[in-house]
Amino acid sequence: MSPAEELRPALDEIRAVDHHAHPLADPGAGHLLADVLSEATDPAMTAAMRDHPSHHRAVRDLARFLGVEANEGAIAELRAREGFEPFTRRLLEACGLAEMLVDDGFRFSGALSIADHAALVPCAVRRVLRIETTAEAAAEGWRVFATVRGRFRAMVEEAVAGGAAGLKTIAAYRCGLELPPADPDDAADAYARWVRTDTPRLTDAPLVSFFLSEALDAVRDRPVPLQVHTGFGDTDLALHRADPSLLRPLLEDERYADVPIVLLHCYPFVGQASYLASVYPNVYLDLSMALTFAAHRGPEIVLEALDLAPASKLLFATDASRLPELFFLGAMWWRDALAGALGRLIEDSTIDRATALRWAELILAGNAQRLYGPSAL
Ligand SMILES: [Zn+2]
Repeated sequence: MSPAEELRPALDEIRAVDHHAHPLADPGAGHLLADVLSEATDPAMTAAMRDHPSHHRAVRDLARFLGVEANEGAIAELRAREGFEPFTRRLLEACGLAEMLVDDGFRFSGALSIADHAALVPCAVRRVLRIETTAEAAAEGWRVFATVRGRFRAMVEEAVAGGAAGLKTIAAYRCGLELPPADPDDAADAYARWVRTDTPRLTDAPLVSFFLSEALDAVRDRPVPLQVHTGFGDTDLALHRADPSLLRPLLEDERYADVPIVLLHCYPFVGQASYLASVYPNVYLDLSMALTFAAHRGPEIVLEALDLAPASKLLFATDASRLPELFFLGAMWWRDALAGALGRLIEDSTIDRATALRWAELILAGNAQRLYGPSAL
């Protein structure tokens, strides 16, 4: 038995904290496995994903767990026969989670509310507040800028006082991560431009930057971690503007030195994220969705994350949404990847088994528990 195979069962015993996930969807929305194993939205591309290693691995592993033939039809048939709720509970139970932090700002058809989602999953659930969608809600009705600003701050304060575990920015999607310094006058001008467009989507860089700094300022007395979307996303995103190394001004800003900044996804900028997490004490990284989309390369990607960053900086997360199958695969494949990576370090005598287990506990749960703390409620 290889060190990785020997280590793998022990990782199932660690109750993990999934610090980045989204709600499940109502089964009537008709999401399919092939649709959620890439960021593609074009039907031709999602159909082509059936010839990607992750799809084959997904069918293989789901069929093995569920005890059905290894094809999509057999899995769908079982899902229909068993019923959505029991099927979901069975898959979520197998994820071995202690807690899940859920960003409900990602909109898709049939998305469950946080309360309905929490009722289905067998672990604690806390919310993460998405900054840009909160700003859009605050701007509804196009009131004067000072009012919108006040409303936004109140919404952020209220969410954190109400138990939200963190803030999240999707600036990468809206204007890119190269943000100008936050400035109230520039923000007021940008707000006037936004009002003239009369579209609800916030995309102006000075305004995105301003709301980000307002959000951090609103919770400065009880700072919570800031999650930053970096790396890949759907075609709405300009990949070259999602490189986490563009965040240097934010990372260098002394006002935020005590705010944990967690770089989400990171792929294909895992090396950059690993570097940043190795030089800034408050920077962390996860590999959410990267280890699902490229499951066959899992150990290599985890080792790349540890190229420069220590084990105390890497966090487990699934980034799963919509289908319970995606939560199951994310949790299982993350552990497979981690066992593979740590197994290799044992094999070449870099670490011993006790160190591997300690690092696995940190990456799967301990790092997130330290950052996000226990639920305040
Ligand atoms: Zn996500």
